[in-house]
Amino acid sequence: MARLAQTAGLSDVQSEILATVREFVDKEIIPKAQELEHGDTYPAEIVEGMKEMGLFGITIPEEYGGLGESLLTYALVVEEIARGWMSVSGVINTHFIVAHMIARHGTEAQKRHFLPRMATGEVRGAFSMSEPGLGSDVAAISTKATRDGGGDYVVDGTKMWLTNGGTSTLVALLARTDEGADGPHRNLTTFLVEKPEGYGEVLPGLTIPGKLDKMGYKGVDTTEAVFDGFRIGAYTVLGETPGRGFSYMMDGIEVGRVNVAARACGIAIRAFELAIEYAQQRETFGKPIAEHQAIAFKLADMATKVEAAHQMMVNAARLKDSGTRNDVEAGMAKLIASEYCAEVTQEAFRIHGGYGYSTEYEIERLMREAPFLLIGEGTSEIQKTIISKGLLEEYRLRS
Ligand SMILES: Cc1cc2nc3c(=O)[nH]c(=O)nc-3n(C[C@H](O)[C@H](O)[C@H](O)COP(=O)(O)OP(=O)(O)OC[C@H]3O[C@@H](n4cnc5c(N)ncnc54)[C@H](O)[C@@H]3O)c2cc1C
Repeated sequence: MARLAQTAGLSDVQSEILATVREFVDKEIIPKAQELEHGDTYPAEIVEGMKEMGLFGITIPEEYGGLGESLLTYALVVEEIARGWMSVSGVINTHFIVAHMIARHGTEAQKRHFLPRMATGEVRGAFSMSEPGLGSDVAAISTKATRDGGGDYVVDGTKMWLTNGGTSTLVALLARTDEGADGPHRNLTTFLVEKPEGYGEVLPGLTIPGKLDKMGYKGVDTTEAVFDGFRIGAYTVLGETPGRGFSYMMDGIEVGRVNVAARACGIAIRAFELAIEYAQQRETFGKPIAEHQAIAFKLADMATKVEAAHQMMVNAARLKDSGTRNDVEAGMAKLIASEYCAEVTQEAFRIHGGYGYSTEYEIERLMREAPFLLIGEGTSEIQKTIISKGLLEEYRLRS
């Protein structure tokens, strides 16, 4: 895009990575997205292309075979990919979160075991927190991991909404361990569950039923995971520290929020591109609809929202990269980017008139993708809870 969503102060390496990804998106993703999405087909060829570009290891430290790039670089890459097709960004999103958690909180042995293979895309990650009975209220998790006599854990319970549940080979699983640790949320533990790709009983006691049928976000698989007497070694506990799972997953979610904001920016950019092009082609009452002030003003509003969301997303990523706590800013970026994305997409849809309702037009797909961003990595209500809590701490009245 010539003018909108520019990012000041990028290094040459960042600019080069982004230019390569943009070209890949324009040539390999945009022309194929419609057909793959309507067929609910996994984008296998595109995933291979991303592996070749090193995108699965983009933030993994160089000593473990990755590119060692920042959250900002990653977020800008995701923005580009989501501009092409949000489902493709879904393939790398959970993988990126799991790699981040292992790099930050894993033992040296866990890092050496997983990260080099994650960097090539040979091992691909899924992130499993939600259950049929809960999403926002993570502390209510009921899936249980109980120690047996030999020191292993036995896991029982059902997890819900695993993005990449069938195609991943590593699941970061949050389960209740109740091992006597005190303090809020200290009874939850993250396990690194290795499994084969596929559906059905993939390991004794672990079943991945088929793909869930979704309104949009097609192509990428979203599944349940059923644990029934599933046995797993204590060495699979992330960081080998039981009871720390909640904070590890929240750290993952925090980078995930920037990433969801970036996806929302990507979709909004694409919706704007489609709308401004269509508005100059479609004529009514003897002139292009872009020349009717009502439509021109819509374009102005849309562009302003695209710009604001992008800048907030970039700010949240940069804060995290600098080591500063960014929960409030990541929440704000996620909130505004996802809400604006829904609004911009809706306006682009209206500008397309009746054609926006046709499955032949890309905007119809974006209309089905945008609502997911209002929910994933925490709903807007949950973002407002986090933002207001952070602000009330910061601006506490001093008596
Ligand atoms: C396509 C898809 C992919 C997903 N992928 C994953 C994944 O990979 N891994 C994973 O773990 N999860 C995943 N999720 C789950 C997602 O994170 C949850 O759906 C989300 O967190 C919301 O939880 P919920 O659906 O249980 O809604 P609920 O928590 O039941 O919320 C229902 C409504 O109540 C509101 N609400 C809840 N609590 C409050 C409160 N305290 N104050 C005000 N309002 C409140 C919510 O904002 C929402 O509007 C995915 C979901 C979808 C749809």
